Amino acid sequence: MHPDLLDILRCPYCGGRLELVTSLFNRTEGNTVRDGILGCNCCVFPVVDGIPVLHLHASAVAARQHIEAAAPELALRAMAGIENDDQAERFESAVASKDSTYRDIVEALGPNFEGGYFLYRFSDPTFVVADAVVTAVAGTVLQRTGRALDACGGSGHLTRSLVRLSSTPPVLADLFFPKIWLARRFTAPGALPVCCDANAPLPFARGSFDYAMCSDAFMFIWMKRLFVSELFRAVAGSDRGTVLINHTHNQLVWSPSHGQALTPGAYRNLFETASPRMFGESRLFADVVAGRALDLSRVDEPAALAAEAALTLIASPVEGVFETHPLASSPRPAGEWRINPLFEVDDQGARLHGVLRFPNGEYEFEYGACREYLPGEVFIDKAAFQALQSGGPFEPLAELIRRRVVVELPKKYY
Ligand SMILES: [Zn+2]
Repeated sequence: MHPDLLDILRCPYCGGRLELVTSLFNRTEGNTVRDGILGCNCCVFPVVDGIPVLHLHASAVAARQHIEAAAPELALRAMAGIENDDQAERFESAVASKDSTYRDIVEALGPNFEGGYFLYRFSDPTFVVADAVVTAVAGTVLQRTGRALDACGGSGHLTRSLVRLSSTPPVLADLFFPKIWLARRFTAPGALPVCCDANAPLPFARGSFDYAMCSDAFMFIWMKRLFVSELFRAVAGSDRGTVLINHTHNQLVWSPSHGQALTPGAYRNLFETASPRMFGESRLFADVVAGRALDLSRVDEPAALAAEAALTLIASPVEGVFETHPLASSPRPAGEWRINPLFEVDDQGARLHGVLRFPNGEYEFEYGACREYLPGEVFIDKAAFQALQSGGPFEPLAELIRRRVVVELPKKYY
């Protein structure tokens, strides 16, 4: 944990500043804290493997006791949810190997973790829309300098989009420690992970951010009213302070993983005087599939919003947000180019032949809308693909990249 993070961290309960308790066990490397105890006026919290844990769930209490007893490896096991010695051995050997992939560590964490669809995350319809919305809105707001917060950002798949948009690292906040730990190593290495509970006050100083978002998670938060006010507190005082809630389910339309969804009107009420603009996801998805521009200047009528399975709410004082945003024509690769794992590929010499195969019917039911951009069958020029993988031009494959047949994934994803 970089000490600069202490400037914006606050205790979620007393609001006080946090400091490293130097009289207790700690491991520091240069000016970064690897393991230690942070103290405020009311409480103590552990830093586990460089990640501050600012809540008091049982795992965090156990981890703090392990740090105080100078056993940081046991603290990491507690936060990773390791339950027995066999699992600990699998996890620790996967962690120690430089060759381990995201997939290797997910598998070492066991079948209860992540659900198994992470391989396809970068091409699933929810992600494709969210990525376009976040890139358009956060890009306009941050202007390459502002600080972003991805609250309930999970394994950092969208935080990765934020990292590219500003020279100030975004903060990735989530309750599930293994997810943010994976994000730091694989999906969003440029972000600052913080482990905290969205059903409590967020552990940040007022006005630490210019942009605060929550994507595909808001319907699972019980304290919705507190959480929205906390997002606004996080951006308070910034002349571009923007709050975005993306892909939250609509109580009026059933969807898989429904959560405790609200109606469009009830979501709007949570924003009180901030008057958010609300968009139906299906129309944003249609924009992305058409491949030209994302239209945030439109106003969706209440009857249209009532029929949407998922909604996006944006409150922003930045004029440029509610306009039409060209979809990025040139990808900015930071990872590695792969053929979308939803395709079964056979090598036909000069070209690769891919056939779309869903992992199972359940996946197809929830994410089948990806057929709107993923073709059932595809041919890929092998020489052009190999050139792209070794840093060559993307233009020859631009259409396949736009259609997510060829995808840019984090390094060592699987
Ligand atoms: Zn406190």
